[in-house]
Order: sequence, then C-alpha cells, then structure tokens
Amino acid sequence: MRRPLVVGNWKMNLTTREAAALVESFKKAVEILDRTDIVVCPPYISLPCVHACLKGTNIKLGAQDVFWMEKGAYTGQVSASMLEDVGVTHCLVGHSETRGRFGKLEVSETTLCYFAETDETVNLKVRRLLYCGMTPILCVGETLGEREAGRTDQVVRDQLSDGLAGLDEAELHPLVVAYEPVWAIGTGHTCDTAEAQRVCAMIRAFMCGISSELAASTRVLYGGSVKSSNARDLFAQPDIDGGLVGGASLDAYEFKDIVMSAR
Ligand code: PEP
Repeated sequence: MRRPLVVGNWKMNLTTREAAALVESFKKAVEILDRTDIVVCPPYISLPCVHACLKGTNIKLGAQDVFWMEKGAYTGQVSASMLEDVGVTHCLVGHSETRGRFGKLEVSETTLCYFAETDETVNLKVRRLLYCGMTPILCVGETLGEREAGRTDQVVRDQLSDGLAGLDEAELHPLVVAYEPVWAIGTGHTCDTAEAQRVCAMIRAFMCGISSELAASTRVLYGGSVKSSNARDLFAQPDIDGGLVGGASLDAYEFKDIVMSAR
C-alpha cells in the first residue's frame, strides 16, 4: 500500500521571514493529518529556518535542486551532504524549470541556455542523492509541442530511462517520480484527469520493467496547476499517489485542502 505524498515546491518565492510565517500557519492547519506524507521545498536560503519551524511535525524538508559532486571548486553549487546537514530528506531533480523547459516563459529566449539541465546531469544528481540516503523526486514531462507531435510517451520514457540509467531495483527503492506536463506548470491548464492517469500508469509500467515490486511501491505524483478544486479527482486515480504543487503551496489553507484531498 503506497502512502499518499504531497510536495510543495515554493520555487523562488518568499524571504526567510515569509517562509517561516507560511510554515507556522500551514503547521496549525495540518496538525491532525497523519495519513499523508507532506514535504515542503523552500529556496536553499530558507532551509535551516524552515527546518527549525518543522520540528515536532511530520512534515519533511525538501530542496529544489542539488549538485552531484561532494565538494570542491563548484561556485554557486550545493551538495547533497550540505542539504542533509540542514535537515533535508527529499530533493527535486530534473524539474522542467531547471531543464529550461518553461510552461509560462518569463525569461528571454536568449538566456534560456542558463537552465542547462540534461538527462545526464539528472542521472548524476539522482545517483548522488540515493548514495547519501536521500529521496530524489524525479520530474518528467512533455512540452506542448511534444504533446502536439504525439511524442508524450516517448519523451517521458526517455527521461526515465536516461535519468535512471545504471541504477538497479535495490538502489531505486526510495525514488519518487512526478509526472509534470510542462504546458500545465504555472499556466492554470491542468492535464485532463484520465490523461494524467494514463501517463502515470505508463510510468508505473516503466518501473515494472525494472521489477514488479518496484512498480508497486514507487510513488508517482502528478504536478501542473494542482489546486484544491481539481486535487481530489486527480488523487483518486489508481496510479496517482499525490501531487507536486507549485503556486498553490504558497497559500497555507489552499495547500492544506490539497493535502486533505490526498487521503
Ligand atoms: C511545480 O512547480 O512543479 C508545479 C507543478 O507548479 P504549479 O503547481 O504552479 O503548476
């Protein structure tokens, strides 16, 4: 039996003080919930403060990215051990925004190459997190152009096979996969429930190719404009075990309602 999981991705929002205030109101709102796993992913700079605020709760701390090397001359990067040191247990990997694949483009086309994540760097990050005993949340999903070209399944399968290359069943046990169609992220356009279920079932079938036990235990989340009004339907699908929530996780009561929908 897979426990539902809801992950809040705060992206590049909130100062440390605002992050603490959000956790305090959210904490009170979810005090009574014990059947759903909850993770919040603040910006790096707020991790220690949010970790302190989460003490005594079941809410886990996640990061939005990680670098794959242990230490060294990598200006601006943060290692898995550094994240672990401040209480991080989960980490997003391969989010479409770090891959430079935006649902709503708010940077200029000429600066897009800054967001240079590839399936190879995704693989290095997943490996590093697993080696450090942390939970990678691997994000996969197609752009609108890829969907319109009928390439959704191929894109998602390629991201899975390249992102997980060289890892075996025993190593992959903690992995969480999030299906996030790029065109649904931050746009207000949620994927049709039946289609989200179909792609999540395909992701589970991919995991089944590694082992049927892994397919049965891996949590597959849906992400892309999840709100309290659509969460219940999405989370009721047999292959959707919860959600990765961006914008709506910045509102304590909205996020609480989404978490409650996952029971
Ligand atoms: C996300 O950040 O992964 C996400 C799904 O964002 P939003 O919920 O805002 O679409």
